[in-house]
Amino acid sequence: MKLLEERILKDGRVIGKDVLKIDSFLNQQIDLNLLEEIGKAFHEAFSDIPLTKILTIEASGISVAVMTAREFNNCPVLFAKKDFSRIMVDDVYVAPIHSFTKGLDYHAIVSKRFLSKDDHILIIDDFLGNGDAVAGLIKICRQAGATVEGVGIVIEKSFMRGIDRIENKGVRVVSLARIASLKDGKIHFMEED
Ligand code: 5GP
Repeated sequence: MKLLEERILKDGRVIGKDVLKIDSFLNQQIDLNLLEEIGKAFHEAFSDIPLTKILTIEASGISVAVMTAREFNNCPVLFAKKDFSRIMVDDVYVAPIHSFTKGLDYHAIVSKRFLSKDDHILIIDDFLGNGDAVAGLIKICRQAGATVEGVGIVIEKSFMRGIDRIENKGVRVVSLARIASLKDGKIHFMEED
């Protein structure tokens, strides 16, 4: 998505060799005009799927998921909560996740009330790195017997290979921007196929 790539080049800041900060338009301040275009792009990519809900994880996935849901007739948006205290309860689906950016382990939790075998789910997240967060969300859907129809990612850090991990689970992934490298503080996008 050209508009997104231009914005990443303009406002993205590289931290170390593998983290990108985009807090001026998504991770802290949110640019609704850009997010509206992102929602439209995901709608175009997944217009063929029988969607009942969009699933994401707090916090940064929520705004993207909401703007995408606007394009899918305001379908419900469900977000997994992050539980760092490891308090387990019976009425939730749970998946352990390692946070790449924080270096911590946590559990993603979704109430059993909001996810069932009748659901057809589009998973949305802001970044795909090692694929841990998305793999956790897929695990939660599968615990519920829900069908994962696809995964929409705003920025895929292709050099971290999380994409292979998710596609190996038989799930289609659409990424709007694909980063080949962040070496030497420079952002390089993947060449188009
Ligand atoms: P993964 O689990 O695929 O390694 O990482 C995905 C999760 O970590 C996303 O939910 C995202 O919030 C966070 N994340 C991973 N890489 C980055 C990054 O370069 N920048 C930011 N802002 N978040 C990231």
